[in-house]
Amino acid sequence: MSENRPLGDMDPSEFRRYGHELVDWIADYLAHLDRYPVLARTQPGEIRSNLPQSPPEQGEEMETILGDIRQIIVPGLTHWNHPAFFSYFSVTGSGPGILGELLSAAFNVNGMLWRTSPAATELEELVLDWLRQLLGFQEPRWGIIYDTASISTFHAVAAARQLVPGMNPRENGFRTDPSHGRLRLYCSEQAHSSVEKAGLALGIGLEGIRKIPVDAEFRMRVDELRRAIDEDLAEGWIPFCVTATVGTTSTTSVDPVPEIERVCRDHGIWLHVDAAYGGVAGILPEKRWVLEGCERADSLVVNPHKWLFTPIDCSVLFCRRPEVLREAFSLIPEYLRSKEPATNFMDYGLQLGRRFRSLKLWMVIRYFGRRGIEARLRQHIQWADTLASWIDEHPRFERLAPVPFSTVCFRAVPPKVVERGEEALNRFNETLLETVNRTGRLFISHTRLHGHFTLRVAIGNLKTTRAHIERAWETIVNSAEDLQAGI
Ligand code: PLP
Repeated sequence: MSENRPLGDMDPSEFRRYGHELVDWIADYLAHLDRYPVLARTQPGEIRSNLPQSPPEQGEEMETILGDIRQIIVPGLTHWNHPAFFSYFSVTGSGPGILGELLSAAFNVNGMLWRTSPAATELEELVLDWLRQLLGFQEPRWGIIYDTASISTFHAVAAARQLVPGMNPRENGFRTDPSHGRLRLYCSEQAHSSVEKAGLALGIGLEGIRKIPVDAEFRMRVDELRRAIDEDLAEGWIPFCVTATVGTTSTTSVDPVPEIERVCRDHGIWLHVDAAYGGVAGILPEKRWVLEGCERADSLVVNPHKWLFTPIDCSVLFCRRPEVLREAFSLIPEYLRSKEPATNFMDYGLQLGRRFRSLKLWMVIRYFGRRGIEARLRQHIQWADTLASWIDEHPRFERLAPVPFSTVCFRAVPPKVVERGEEALNRFNETLLETVNRTGRLFISHTRLHGHFTLRVAIGNLKTTRAHIERAWETIVNSAEDLQAGI
């Protein structure tokens, strides 16, 4: 059977027509996200079963494809760009960022080497220097964009491992020579699971990861860190890396980085800081304290795709010792040799091909500017403070953690349920979470703090207004009251 279209790509006039149509549709989608339930209301398998199970023999019309997107794909989306998306970390794929993604797909460049697209490499270097300035770091800092914080952290831990004296995993592989102690990495009990995943991937093993207890505000206890390192040294372990967190996933707590850095310096241990969410707040002069000590860390990850209005994916790793990353990862086959005296980002990581991610970040920063970014972050923080004050004033709710950024942790404590004990309270709050999310009006997530089932509202979307916060609180309070009435 012959092909139903002339060979070659989509005709430019057709591209123009559907491009315009799609951009119009996206503009309407973004303007009217409130029409959609935030959390997808489909059953597992439903979306897949509604789509053809085999690829088409002949190319299909764009009308048909776009029709299926509207009718089948969109109802199966959980709308992360929705102004009432308060789950996990609330994010924004902003207008300039979306346009940057579109352009990046059109250019389709691969920034593996400087020569494979000089603009991609140089813009990445430039925009990361902009971000460095925005974050208030005085000294120039080498940086690289990876896809996610998990991958940034993986690379940081790989660099730390490469530096362990007498080991050289690049040449020797990862030996479990009994005469050589085992590697130990430290992070707090509240650190993100990506730290453990880096340990899994790099042969450290879960046993090689020691979780340090936290204080009452969920921050790593430095006295416990020191004790753990001393104990491990006495037992023959090799402490090689500490990961501190600025803005932990559950409560957004900030580990005491200056003190942790001192411990690392005393012991010659690599300090990696996971500021994937909280780091961006350092752009605000009044929040710069959250990055205190980070300028001396060996590596630091900040995710513009979390709270810097950049569509996923975009994670920045700043590294004071890029030569170690290079030592760990550079491998240049003949066909990739090049002579230009310029950065070849492929030398600093696992992947060869690299997307032009700096373009969207650069467009976001240019479009909003320092002042615009500050004002927006400030507003999110202010609303989180307001929500925290409503919780504090309400007799049947209690807050479970401080609010250093724009995420609030709390639970309902209706007296009738409190009387029945902790398990009943946990069940009540779990039901409350499901009830609230089922309304489709908002989507919040949960965590567990000191054994308490905890509700979590994260604010970080540019389309969120105060009315969304008020409506969210009203829905939570009313749902709790209805549930309580039914007991
Ligand atoms: N670090 C922290 C503190 C996080 O909260 C998260 C995810 O929420 C991550 C790392 C992992 O981020 P990513 O999805 O970019 O790998």
